[in-house]
Parts: sequence; structure tokens; C-alpha cells
Amino acid sequence: MSQKPLTVLLAGPRGFCAGVDRAIEIVEKSIEKFGAPVYVRHEIVHNKYVVDELRGKGAVFVEELDEVPEGSPVVFSAHGVPKSVPAEAEQRNMIHVDATCPLVTKVHVDARRHDKDGQTVILIGHAGHPEVVGTLGQLSAGKIVLVENIEQVSSLTIADPDNLAFVTQTTLSVDDTAEIVRALQKRFPNIEAPRKEDICYATTNRQAAVKTLAPDCDAFIVIGAPNSSNSNRLAEVAQATGCPKSILIERAADLDMEWVDGAETLGITAGASAPELLVQELIAALKEEFDVTVREVAVTTEDVHFSLPRTLTA
Ligand code: SF4
Repeated sequence: MSQKPLTVLLAGPRGFCAGVDRAIEIVEKSIEKFGAPVYVRHEIVHNKYVVDELRGKGAVFVEELDEVPEGSPVVFSAHGVPKSVPAEAEQRNMIHVDATCPLVTKVHVDARRHDKDGQTVILIGHAGHPEVVGTLGQLSAGKIVLVENIEQVSSLTIADPDNLAFVTQTTLSVDDTAEIVRALQKRFPNIEAPRKEDICYATTNRQAAVKTLAPDCDAFIVIGAPNSSNSNRLAEVAQATGCPKSILIERAADLDMEWVDGAETLGITAGASAPELLVQELIAALKEEFDVTVREVAVTTEDVHFSLPRTLTA
């Protein structure tokens, strides 16, 4: 029986960003330099495939520093950590290597600068996400307040509303965040905004690519982990901008091919922590069921590279 035709529109850019590339390289280089095991606090990036690969090379993933033997090398994940974490590592004589994405560090630096200037900081983000935990942990309690949605803006109690600044998580929905910012600026007209956008280039570009493709697609698949913020946002963006039938899956094996049946055009993208190999795995699986034509649609190209910490290059 002949296969049904399926046009796959591959969003570009997709997949690994410069912060994820750097974080993975930091773990690999740390293993080379210090020898296995190298401990990694939290999943280095939110992707099971990546974590399993690094585990195979000698990384040991832990949630907290007290699980790491004294004096052992430990890497902090790309999401960033509260200030108390490197302080504790110092105290316990650990060799610690920071894989925090430089774009997250920029948000930390801004939050601390506002605090030094006597401003209360509002962080727009999702409670419990490790990046948010890390950014909140840059300042003492009460100096930084988390806002997750527009509704929370109206119920905020701020002692000095004219002495206020905001920062954001780097992987939020561009459109949802703009709405929250508008609500904040309406309620607190003197609130200081970041000098440079906190939502990172990778999040912005991946969402822009999905927005471009979604109206032409009958279904949309995002490859990414269920706990990956930027991957979840990509599926939401596809749903909100023209393709209601959009899902997030970790790997091809998670896809029920019947879900694709009936679609003539399928959009595919991958979150910033998902390797390209998993996209190609999905396309190979689709080719077993459908007569697939792949068309790459890139809205922009990226040329961002972050250098490694000096501990690993010296
Ligand atoms: S998604 Fe953005 S902030 Fe997060 S690691 Fe990648 S470049 Fe850095």
C-alpha cells in the first residue's frame, strides 16, 4: 500500500543554544581535567538524552551539594544557582565549575545591581523552575518578588512603588511576558526595565520560527523535555499562533503515529536543550509511516558562542 504524503516543515533555528552547548562542554572538559566522577548539581540541561550521555562519560547527577563527597569536583547547571550554593561549595573545599549560561548570569548581575541601588526587584518567571530559584537566591528574602502572571500584578504590595525594577526568566513566552510587563508598567509607571531584554536570543528566535510556521501546519511537534521551560513555551506558541494541534514529546518513541494521521503538513522544532539527533530520529520514524518531504524554514541564523570558564582553559 502506498504511503500517505506528509510535508514536514522544520523550524530554524531549533535545538541547542550556545548556553546548552557550553554547559555540556563544561561537564565533558571537567571530566577530562579532574577525572571521573564529576558531580553535577541538577540536570545540567533539561534533557534526559543529554544527561544519560554525560552519565555514561562519568558525570554523577545530584540535587544538592550534601550528596557530593567533600573535596570532589562539582558543576553547577546552565540554569544558575542561588548565591548560597557556591558559598557552600567553597566552605566544603569543593572544586566548583559554574556552567550557568552567561545570559542567566546577566540577569543575576542586574538583580544585584538594582538591589545595591536600593530598588525592590520583581522577577517575572515560573515558581519552582531552577532558573527562578537561582535568580531569587541572588538577593535576600523580601528584596525580590516573583510574579508569574497578570493576575498577580494587581495584588502586589510594594512598599516603595517608585523604587522598583524588574527582571525576567530567560525562557518565557515573549508575548505573555510583554503583557505582564505592560500590566506592571501601568501599575508602577516608574518601574525600571532591563537595559537589554532578559528573554534570551535562543528563546526569542525559536518562538519566532514557530510563529512563522504554525499557521501553515495541521499539526506541530516540539521535541523537548517535559520540565524544559523553553520547550513547553514552543508548544504553547504553536497552539496560540495557528496550530492548535501541537504537542511536546521527548523522543520519537513517544509519538503515536495515529496522532499525525490526517495531517498534510507537520511542523517540527526542538527546544534549546534538545539535540538535533532526536529531531532526525523523529523524521526517520515518520518516514517509516509516511511519504515524507522535508522542508527547512529558517527565520534567522544564529552565530552565538560562549567561552568556557577559566578553570577549564588555564
Ligand atoms: S535558553 Fe537562553 S538562557 Fe537558556 S541556556 Fe540557552 S541561551 Fe542561555
